[in-house]
Amino acid sequence: MANPFTLGVASGEPLPDGVVLWTRLAPVPAHPDPKRPGGMPDRAVEVSWQVAEDSRFTRVIQHGVTEAVPAWAHSVHVRVAGLRPGAEYFYRFRTGADLSSAGRTRTANDETSTAAVRFAVANCQRYEHGPYTAYRHLAEERPDVVFHVGDYIYELPQSERPVRSLERAAEAVTLHDYRNRYARYKGDADLRAAHAAAPWAPTWDDHEVANNYRGGAEESPAFRRRRAAAYQAYYEHQPLRVRPSAGSLRMYRRRTYGRVADFLLLDARQYRDATTMLGAAQERWLLDRLAASPVRWKVLVQPLFLARRFVPGPPPNLRADAWDGYPGQRARILAASRGLIVLSGDVHNFWAGELKADFLDASAPVTGVEFVASAVSSRPPATDAPAVLAANPHLRFFDGHRGYLSGTASETGFRVAMRGVEPGGIRTVAEFVTDGLRIIRADV
Ligand code: FE
Ligand code: CA
Repeated sequence: MANPFTLGVASGEPLPDGVVLWTRLAPVPAHPDPKRPGGMPDRAVEVSWQVAEDSRFTRVIQHGVTEAVPAWAHSVHVRVAGLRPGAEYFYRFRTGADLSSAGRTRTANDETSTAAVRFAVANCQRYEHGPYTAYRHLAEERPDVVFHVGDYIYELPQSERPVRSLERAAEAVTLHDYRNRYARYKGDADLRAAHAAAPWAPTWDDHEVANNYRGGAEESPAFRRRRAAAYQAYYEHQPLRVRPSAGSLRMYRRRTYGRVADFLLLDARQYRDATTMLGAAQERWLLDRLAASPVRWKVLVQPLFLARRFVPGPPPNLRADAWDGYPGQRARILAASRGLIVLSGDVHNFWAGELKADFLDASAPVTGVEFVASAVSSRPPATDAPAVLAANPHLRFFDGHRGYLSGTASETGFRVAMRGVEPGGIRTVAEFVTDGLRIIRADV
């Protein structure tokens, strides 16, 4: 058998005492036979793992053996505990005579820590639209944690003018299709490098399942089956702590870094109903945490543009699939906030702006700020940015590079850089400091 570690390694879900280690055995990444995902035999395979304090594995502090089983496409999710807080570790896997590459990870800062946290935010990586150069630079930064805010894959058929080819041009619908789509995406060395460089805490948007889908009661049985297949494939390819059951997967959660940053990850798809994006239970969880959190910065990590964004011209002027379709729930969140920081994506360009419970009332107080990450590779829509900025006075900045956000939260400040890919490399196209109520350009 060829080396089965073709999809790389990953870690994620950092807590002060542990992380999840991930890999998936796939000697033939996108094997055409649905009964042999990854080209693996139809039986359980033993995989051993090591965690070390140094990158040469001279100080291995934990090791173990787990089983990779066909039902989960021979993916491996090891929950490591008993680690030190705010500490760097290295890990790798072995099966038979084959050794994986090594990954670097880092635990979260402990509850009482006042240390700063360095994070990155990435999203929207349509494979055939371009290379993942942004990830190469993100990996070099070795952040403490990487947040992914959705569109990790696109289920869509291969687009016009592909820069590189999908494993199969048709839309992904079955579990086999989704698995092979992930396998193709993870064929990119820069994506694998970004996973190997830092722990990730991802959430999803629509294209992990289907364009603009809404979970909830209106789904047909056929769509529920498709969604369950997509959620399973998502789990099989991410370093998550919990696995899906009965077709659902709990994605909303918090990742807290000491007294400094409470990152609140949202699920904007699974629980939608006629009037809310999050559903009632997730909203209650969020409002409770916003009210009770003793942490300096409350940071929403979620896929969709939160600020009102009126696009002048022919209707529709507001995007019903994003938060502009759910103004009531948005207003409740923003009315309950003071100094909220929102990190989002979805629109394939960088934006920054201020948030308030009533965007149409010029005298309404600002209660938060938003930074929107551009796409890693997905093509941007045609956008008349000056017209949109003029029509939405709370929006303050636009930039059209592909790239990611790179930020630092400390006790005394919150800083966000927009990192844009250019032919010669990477550049900070704008940098901001914020107190959660105003955004100030820091690079001019
Ligand atoms: Fe996208
Ligand atoms: Ca999206």
